Amino acid sequence: MKWEGVIKHYRNYLPVTEKTPIVTLLEGNTPLISANNISKEFKGKIKLYLKYEGLNPTASFKDRGMTVAVSCALGRGAKAVMCASTGNTSASAAAYAAAGELKCIVLIPKGAIALGKLSQALLHGAKVIAIEGNFDDALELAKGITSKYPITLVNSLNPDRIEGQKTAAFEICDILETSPNYQAMPVGNAGNITAYWKGYSEYKEKGKIKNLPKILGFQASGSAPIVEGHPIKNPQTIATAIRIGNPARWKEAVEAAENSNGLIEKISDEEILTAYKMLAKREGIFVEPASAISIAGIIKLYKRGYFDSRSSNSHSPIKIVCILTGHGLKDPDIAIKESSQPVVIPPKEEAVLEVAGYK
Ligand SMILES: *Cc1c(COP(=O)(O)O)cnc(C)c1O
Repeated sequence: MKWEGVIKHYRNYLPVTEKTPIVTLLEGNTPLISANNISKEFKGKIKLYLKYEGLNPTASFKDRGMTVAVSCALGRGAKAVMCASTGNTSASAAAYAAAGELKCIVLIPKGAIALGKLSQALLHGAKVIAIEGNFDDALELAKGITSKYPITLVNSLNPDRIEGQKTAAFEICDILETSPNYQAMPVGNAGNITAYWKGYSEYKEKGKIKNLPKILGFQASGSAPIVEGHPIKNPQTIATAIRIGNPARWKEAVEAAENSNGLIEKISDEEILTAYKMLAKREGIFVEPASAISIAGIIKLYKRGYFDSRSSNSHSPIKIVCILTGHGLKDPDIAIKESSQPVVIPPKEEAVLEVAGYK
């Protein structure tokens, strides 16, 4: 079947009518890749799948929510949208606003967003405003302004964002023809964990799946308000997409973890970077650091024996889906910093062979 974007594909599950003008860049339908090499680490106990959301049009899952948020805003007569962003929301909002011919204003924490994301928001023509503060400050401003002016807030507080993002859960079930046993994902502002849980729950209600997956959410250690149980004033982590000290959907994230018998855990930057390099070197998949936390989390839980008791009554491996939320090209600085640099040599065959290890 021809792919026409998440709204047309999952229309019956989404808050759209025949009159809603659909703004789409044909987002969704991202691959669910078997992590055959990393799965070897788990000695047949786990079958790991990677939902590569970095292959959406603006290279993050935010596009799923943005197609619905921007379409519905347009349907209600909006002329402008605004968001606070650690980067990917601004890139996505800017692109969909451009496609829908809406004005777009984005508030970003000064100096704290990855290069690729900034380049997108700028080139798509958004008004990009850097705040001398962090994401949480930017979100407070965006909430205040959009409550007073005719501008639609397209952060994940906007329920249309959640509706669009839940379609990723549908896709996973449609491809697996069942639900996974576990799903691992990064947690920042906690919109996406809310969305996946809603998606799985609706699919179960409709009889499309029999069981709900356990939801495993991961926060970076320096930015783990939900794990610590209180807002973090000055969150720190190299995973800028989840550098959030006071998640807007905190309560829903806790509910998703608790109601599914999952958990929310914290993972160090070092563990994130190890998983980041592992995905690139062993699976050929380039993600941004925040996305790698899903893998880092599974490795940590596996080592702790978390999955031991959970597969004893079955011979088949447990199915775990890791959500890879954003593409690695978003943050090229980190990739280069974490790698050894190219060797510089004279243009001679001898020299190449020597460096390549053939001499
Ligand atoms: C936005 C984002 C997250 C966090 O998602 P939330 O819905 O804020 O929890 C994680 N990874 C990437 C790449 C993102 O862009």
